[in-house]
Amino acid sequence: MNDSQLLRYSRHILLDEIGIEGQHKLLAAHALVIGAGGLGSPAAMYLASAGVGRITLVDDDTVDLTNLQRQIAHTTERVGQPKAESARATLLQINPEISVTALNQRVDDARLAALVADADVVLDCTDNFATRHAVNRACVAARKPLVSGAVIRFDGQVSVFDPRGGAQPCYSCLFPQDQRFEDVACSTMGVFAPLVGVVGAMQAAEALKLLMGVGASLAGRLMMLDGLHMEWTSIGVGRNGACPVCADHTI
Ligand SMILES: [Zn+2]
Repeated sequence: MNDSQLLRYSRHILLDEIGIEGQHKLLAAHALVIGAGGLGSPAAMYLASAGVGRITLVDDDTVDLTNLQRQIAHTTERVGQPKAESARATLLQINPEISVTALNQRVDDARLAALVADADVVLDCTDNFATRHAVNRACVAARKPLVSGAVIRFDGQVSVFDPRGGAQPCYSCLFPQDQRFEDVACSTMGVFAPLVGVVGAMQAAEALKLLMGVGASLAGRLMMLDGLHMEWTSIGVGRNGACPVCADHTI
């Protein structure tokens, strides 16, 4: 690290759990962020500010005026531009020393598998179950840790699914693919703006910890936030031995 980097990351380096070694791990890491909206904005901004050396943003949508209430990586001037490109510009304004790739496309399973295989950690910042399950399948297949977040109305949830541990559940253990869940997007249901910031920031925190190998992750736990009464609930989640996604991937 040069003098400028030592200053930029000094408040992380001062932490015993991180230090120079941990900061080097972040600089050498590659994070894949699926979705550059409400969750992806704060998550990616913290990854960038913290010095994650390579960040890949995937989003096929464009910035809309209705996004700006909560999707803080975007600006009024960028309405109509691709979200991935808009978020990339914000991340590089925060930290021009990192490499940010913007993919303005909806990725199919093959592309997703390649992207996940090339990443050290994956952040699911999407808002629909089909994509969440596709991302989970790719992470289980490539044995990459997945940091999952979701927010709707005044409710949020966040967890980590880490297929490297063997005994940990995957996303599909918790939300089976064949079960019909109410697929309600923010685009139709409304969402309390700061909650995507709370959950997105927690996703960034978990991703940074996983990249540095510090602390204990949320693997095996689901944190649920009732933002209207500001109460957190943490529940333990176990592996489903009959899960069609991860049952064959026992280490
Ligand atoms: Zn599973």
